[in-house]
Amino acid sequence: MSKSKLTISVHTGSAGDPQYGGIVNPIYPASAYDYDTEVLYPRYYNTPNQKAAVEKIAALENAEDGLMFSSGMAAIMTSMFALLKGGDHIIFQSDLYGGTHHAALTVLNRYGIEYDMVDAVDPKNLELAIRKNTKVIYLETPSNPLLTITDVAAIAKIARKNNLISIIDNTFASPVNQNPIDFGIDIVIHSGTKYIGGHSDLVCGVMVSSKKLTAKIKASAQHFGGSLDANTSYLVERSLKTIVLRVQQQNKNAVAIARFLQKESGIVKVNYPGLKGHPGHSIAKKQMKGGFGGMLSFEIKGNPDKFLKRLKLIKKAVSLGGVETTISAPCKTSHAKLTAAERASAGISDQLLRLSVGIEEAKDIINDIKQAL
Ligand SMILES: *Cc1c(COP(=O)(O)O)cnc(C)c1O
Repeated sequence: MSKSKLTISVHTGSAGDPQYGGIVNPIYPASAYDYDTEVLYPRYYNTPNQKAAVEKIAALENAEDGLMFSSGMAAIMTSMFALLKGGDHIIFQSDLYGGTHHAALTVLNRYGIEYDMVDAVDPKNLELAIRKNTKVIYLETPSNPLLTITDVAAIAKIARKNNLISIIDNTFASPVNQNPIDFGIDIVIHSGTKYIGGHSDLVCGVMVSSKKLTAKIKASAQHFGGSLDANTSYLVERSLKTIVLRVQQQNKNAVAIARFLQKESGIVKVNYPGLKGHPGHSIAKKQMKGGFGGMLSFEIKGNPDKFLKRLKLIKKAVSLGGVETTISAPCKTSHAKLTAAERASAGISDQLLRLSVGIEEAKDIINDIKQAL
C-alpha cells in the first residue's frame, strides 16, 4: 500500500518501544552489542537509531536503502571515493555547493581522479564531456545561490545510456519537493543539516539508493568512518516527523516573498524557480512535484550591508533550511574564496542576497524586508 509523505514522515522507521509501550523510538546509545547474531556497531551503519532515520528518508525518496553520515560532506565524499578510483573521470555540473566545488578542486586530483565541470542547464554539454574513463555524473538542482534548474530526467537518461552512475545533491529541494530516483537518478544525497534536521541545531548527511549501490558505498564507508551517533540519529528521525508540514509552509512563504520582491522598486532581480519568468520554471514544475522550495535569492539596488543591518526578524547566518528565516551574502560566504572577476563570471554580484525562508507568517517576513528596504 503506497502511503502519503505525511504518513511516512510520522510512522516509517518508528519501531516504537516494545519493552515499555512508549510510542516513540528509544535511543540506543550502545557502542557494544552481543555478537552472536548480527554484529551491530555504529561505524557499521546498522544500529537501531541510524536504521530508523534512514528508513524514513529512504521511504520519502522512494529508495530501497541508504546510510546516515556525520555531515553532508561525509556523505558526498564517501560516495565519490567509494565509486571512483585513480584514473576515473567524474562530470560535475558547474553550479555546485561551495564545499563540493572546493573539495573537487583541492582533493580529487591528488588521488588521480579526473573531473570536468560543465554548464548542465543544456544537458547536451554533459553528454559532450563524457570520456572513455567517465564513471559518474554529479548534479545539484536547484543550485546555490542562483537557483538554476537542471533537467533531472534528461540527465538521468544520458547517464543510463552511457552506463554511468548518476548522483544528485537534493538538499535544496528536500525529499518533500523533489524525488530524483523517480526520474532515473541512481543516488540521492542530502545535507541533513538543512531541511531534514530543519531546526539549525544538528549536522548530518544521508545517501539513499538501491540496495546494491548502498552496499557498495557502505563497504567503503565503514573504513572512512563518517557514521552518525545514536543521539543525533534519533533527533533526525524525530525532526523528520514534521518535515512535510515545515517544507509546505516554507514553499508557500517563498512564493509569497518572491512575488512581493518582484514588485519592489528596490529589488533588481529575483531568482526563484516558482516564478513564471524563471528560465527553469517549466522544468522545475515537472520535477519539483511537491513545490518550488524555500530558497530564493535577489539583488538589491542599495547597499546590502545597510539592508542586512536594518533587518529585525530575519537573521544573518550561513546554512539554511531551518524553521527561522535567515539571509546571507554569497560574496562573503559560499563564494568568498573566488576573486571578484570569478564571481562576476559566475553571475554572483556583491548585491546578491540569499534567503532561506522559514515557517513564520509570510506577512511578518515581508514587513521586515519592507522596513529594511
Ligand atoms: C550544506 C550543504 C552541503 C554540505 O553539508 P554539511 O552538512 O555542511 O557537510 C552540501 N550540499 C549542499 C547543497 C548544502 O547546502
